[in-house]
Amino acid sequence: MQSTITTSDITQQFIDLEENYGAHNYHPLPVVLNRGEGVFVWDVDGKRYYDFLSGYSAVNQGHCHPKIIKALVEQASKLTLTSRAFHSDRLGEYEKYITKYFGYNKVLPMNTGVEAVETALKLARKWAYQVKGIENDSAQIIVCEGNFHGRTTGVITFSSDPSAKNNFGPFSPGYINIPHNNLVALEKVFQSKNIAAFMFEPIQGEAGVVVPEEGYLTGVRNLCTEYNVLMIADEIQTGLARTGKMLACDHENVRPDILILGKALSGGVLPVSAVLADDEIMLTIQPGEHGSTYGGNPLACAVAIAALQVLKAENMTENAEAMGELLRSEIKKLNSPFIETVRGKGLLNAIVIKHTNPEAAWDLCLTLKENGLLAKPTHGDKIRFAPPLVITKEQVMECVSIIDKSLQSLE
Ligand SMILES: *Cc1c(COP(=O)(O)O)cnc(C)c1O
Repeated sequence: MQSTITTSDITQQFIDLEENYGAHNYHPLPVVLNRGEGVFVWDVDGKRYYDFLSGYSAVNQGHCHPKIIKALVEQASKLTLTSRAFHSDRLGEYEKYITKYFGYNKVLPMNTGVEAVETALKLARKWAYQVKGIENDSAQIIVCEGNFHGRTTGVITFSSDPSAKNNFGPFSPGYINIPHNNLVALEKVFQSKNIAAFMFEPIQGEAGVVVPEEGYLTGVRNLCTEYNVLMIADEIQTGLARTGKMLACDHENVRPDILILGKALSGGVLPVSAVLADDEIMLTIQPGEHGSTYGGNPLACAVAIAALQVLKAENMTENAEAMGELLRSEIKKLNSPFIETVRGKGLLNAIVIKHTNPEAAWDLCLTLKENGLLAKPTHGDKIRFAPPLVITKEQVMECVSIIDKSLQSLE
């Protein structure tokens, strides 16, 4: 398929700047954005698009949500950073708010998602030595094949994606990969005395929205309890109303021992992440043993409170659930020969493209862009459809007709 891509001179100039002066660690669609509001973003030529990526689910609340921006601007003009060498009047308030919100004793605030993952791994090891009684330096952490937990040298150690790892070694010991969605494999690996934790994504996001079978989360919870292993849920992408529940673990009413949040915790405004756990785990870390200059800064605290408030005030879980159902059923109704699968929960969805051309998913995204909808392929043949959670029924229907029209231009 040959799409006609319209790239204006001004668009090309911005793309060239990035090409010439920025590292080439991403391969973006050829669109240059300069404004966002709700489910929409606009390019430098003034063309409007539906955002079906939502910053990898960071913008659940919609672009530039007025209440979140208000909190940002008000706090930014008062105090932005103290470091943790001093107290601030916002940190304790935020800590109380988020721990009550999710039902944990304590929170440890960080910035990016991968920092929160690293924090959870350190907590699990401390707990393993100090509480569980595993012999020093021998704790193992179980992870799933196809995982995505971020990009540090520590975390890529247990990635199974060659492009995330190649030529970045040597890697650290202490991790065991097992297949995703496989309780038999999990119980088998739990036979060892040295298992500290099982860390997983309740739905694998970057792998292409891979939803485990019903009962998996309950099974994980039961096995972790039986073998005294910490259950760590990385809900950086699945949490905060994205899948039609506040947390993806809520679909089976399961409570992880360590909960990792990021992305939409600031509604796409700042890097804000968090690790939540009870005292038995969290208080194993003592002053001086872990930290971050920006972690828990007053600006992040003010923004995160607002971002969490609007999720509930605007019933975003319910809307994600209803609009997700509608989106999946309407896409299935298109009966396109080029769609192999439609899957997902709430508004975390993906289609798998079936086509003789291996570039078909990329080409389809270029056509979708021409028709006013932005989405990005992952792992070649999968396209994530994850709009902001404020999308309306009429907007979903318009997006389905854009998808329909774009699929028809594939040949
Ligand atoms: C995005 C993501 C991360 C990493 O977050 P960053 O903010 O990019 O470091 C970790 N885990 C999951 C499940 C993610 O989706």
